[in-house]
Amino acid sequence: MNKTSVIDLIGNTPLIYLKKPSELSGCNIYGKAEFLNPGQSVKDRAALYIINDALKKNLLETDGTIVEGTAGNTGIGIAMVANYYNINTTIVIPKTQSEEKKSALRNLGANLIEVDAVPYANPKNYVKYSQDVAIKLGKTSDKKVYWANQFDNTINKLSHIETTAPEILRQTKNNVDAFICSVGTGGTLSGTAEGLKNKKKDVVIGLCDPQGSALFNYIKNKELSASGESITEGIGTTRITENFKNAKIDEAFQIHDQYALDIIYDLLKTEGLSLGPSSGINIGGAIELGKKIGPNKNIVTILCDYGSRYSSKIYNKEFLNSKGFRFPDWIS
Ligand code: PMP
Repeated sequence: MNKTSVIDLIGNTPLIYLKKPSELSGCNIYGKAEFLNPGQSVKDRAALYIINDALKKNLLETDGTIVEGTAGNTGIGIAMVANYYNINTTIVIPKTQSEEKKSALRNLGANLIEVDAVPYANPKNYVKYSQDVAIKLGKTSDKKVYWANQFDNTINKLSHIETTAPEILRQTKNNVDAFICSVGTGGTLSGTAEGLKNKKKDVVIGLCDPQGSALFNYIKNKELSASGESITEGIGTTRITENFKNAKIDEAFQIHDQYALDIIYDLLKTEGLSLGPSSGINIGGAIELGKKIGPNKNIVTILCDYGSRYSSKIYNKEFLNSKGFRFPDWIS
């Protein structure tokens, strides 16, 4: 009998043809269905690679603890993989992140520390806070304590060089013309870009940035400055991480939340796909990239997680009204 485990189910996600976005762009837009990973997001890949790497280097052990600062999805991936290896998980998360992700973390048995959402420059920022937690715990624990450091630990990016990119090349039979997605740590974009460019030099790499993130301006004007704000979670940054540092970006777009939400609601109603807000930003970016480099190009993007992870936000009338968004009448 086959002895498949939960961690063997990470990766090898299908590509889904997105009909309406393809029509709107004049290209073929495909979404990599990362919500089908066992932890239900793209971040399972980095979580598995980071933990396997730490175990291999003897920086983590059974009954030890992995600590991470995360908007939620990396934490869910880490807690799932850590449970498989009998490792404890401590997660530091900004209070602003969705209740759905926080309860998924609690249900996996992670120790959850909620902190105020403050900019990276502040020493209380969740990423720095998580490093402090790891250092303190390491001093009192008799088992190994490891800080995953997904933003600057480039094993994150390696997971996409070695898995996401080869899968896309195989699934498109090397007929991929472009790849585009948004950036949290930058692991998905820079790793997939590097893996694709290693085999196909002319593949166009696009970045799509939400409001409030500095990367669009950085690519266009070499200035790390941001304006506006976004309800998206897990994407957008005001600094250049080690994972993003060497990314070769050909095109950049800024995608507004309303555009992303319109795409999300439309895909749900017309194609039966329920996606989270960052996937809306990614598909918006793929449509804009298609209009620019098309027609008839094959463009791949990332469908990062399910819409159900944000029910209390993007399917909640009060929340949407409070932010001034337009939404369909079937949302009650
Ligand atoms: N979308 C969502 C929902 C995420 O949680 C993340 C990870 N923070 C991303 C996109 C971005 O992925 P990466 O960290 O690889 O840039």
